[in-house]
Amino acid sequence: MRAVRLTAWGREPALSEVERPVPRDAEVLVRVEAAGLCHSDIHVIDGPEGALPYRPPFTLGHEVSGHVAALGPDADGPAVGERVVVYGPWGCGSCARCVAGQDNYCDRRRGLNWHGVGLGRDGGMAEYVLVPAGRHLVPIGDLPAHQAAPLSDAGLTSYHAVNGVRHALRDGTTAAVIGVGGLGHLAVQILRATTTSRVVAVDIREEALTLAQRSGAHAGTLMRTDTARALRARTGGVGVDAVLDFVGNTATLELAADVLRPGGEVAVVGSGGGQLTVRKPGFLPPGFRLSLPFWGTRPELAEVIALARSGALHVETEQFPLSAAPEAFDRLRQGRVAGRAVLLP
Ligand code: NAD
Ligand code: ZN
Ligand code: ZN
Repeated sequence: MRAVRLTAWGREPALSEVERPVPRDAEVLVRVEAAGLCHSDIHVIDGPEGALPYRPPFTLGHEVSGHVAALGPDADGPAVGERVVVYGPWGCGSCARCVAGQDNYCDRRRGLNWHGVGLGRDGGMAEYVLVPAGRHLVPIGDLPAHQAAPLSDAGLTSYHAVNGVRHALRDGTTAAVIGVGGLGHLAVQILRATTTSRVVAVDIREEALTLAQRSGAHAGTLMRTDTARALRARTGGVGVDAVLDFVGNTATLELAADVLRPGGEVAVVGSGGGQLTVRKPGFLPPGFRLSLPFWGTRPELAEVIALARSGALHVETEQFPLSAAPEAFDRLRQGRVAGRAVLLP
């Protein structure tokens, strides 16, 4: 079968021919119908050695949907033919967190032990993907494959991040979404569907602000030196109740700290390598709280799929055949994708 492989840190992924896997024990083989490209794939490709808890070579693709093609002799869960999305953070399966469906926070996530689909283990940018157990599959019904795949990370991670700050988002509050790409445009939709907050979007690109508006944002502002003043003005001077930062560089972290209302929440999702100094006494707003959410839980993925099936979420996609993976990666790296790029193997 064809697969998009990362063979060394820093080397662009390439399409190659590999053996189609055969499911053993409790494993499930999924015929891939769609695999999303995440900005994290760019961070993964770049490495370098030691930055991540696993090593190449492996097949990329951690946003995967398709249908069950074959079951190992001890597999349980969905039957052959069932349409599914893959829950991607694969934990140990036996610690308290994994048993509660929180593989994203597996207690044994240490050293080279941790991996996920397309993250150390072969992923979904291929015709087939081998999933270790049926519990990692969530049924999608008649949801189109190119919608379901991005929901397993772009949708799930955004949903989990919103859940973490939800208590700060009562009536009359404002949420800011920084970085309206694959994750951010779904975060805007999730905020609109599940809170009564006003939503303000921030990005460096005009097209991203247009996407934010289409996704339901009440207002948008370009990332500039006067963005903090603009955001404060939009909240009658009180500041923003929650910031969801899908960039995570020093400029966006400082913006978040600058515009946050006392008692507010900052969730940093983006891996932009930024730093923020915590000092007491200092200049952070009183009650400042910051979290670093990672991916999401299995029950949350089922909720995201249900939300999409109800019509509340729509992923904007650019679709490519598997053979066009290099072009799709180029577009993502250059910041030219509107919403999510998705490969259709
Ligand atoms: P993307 O490339 O689709 O979107 C990024 C958006 O941020 C773009 O619209 C871009 O114009 C905008 N942007 C870039 N620099 C900016 C700046 N300085 N100020 C404001 N806006 C800026 O990326 P994505 O796939 O949505 O991923 C976003 C980030 O989230 C990445 O860093 C990714 O690695 C990370 N991520 C984290 C998790 C997690 O679990 N924590 C999961 C998935 C992705
Ligand atoms: Zn991702
Ligand atoms: Zn575990």
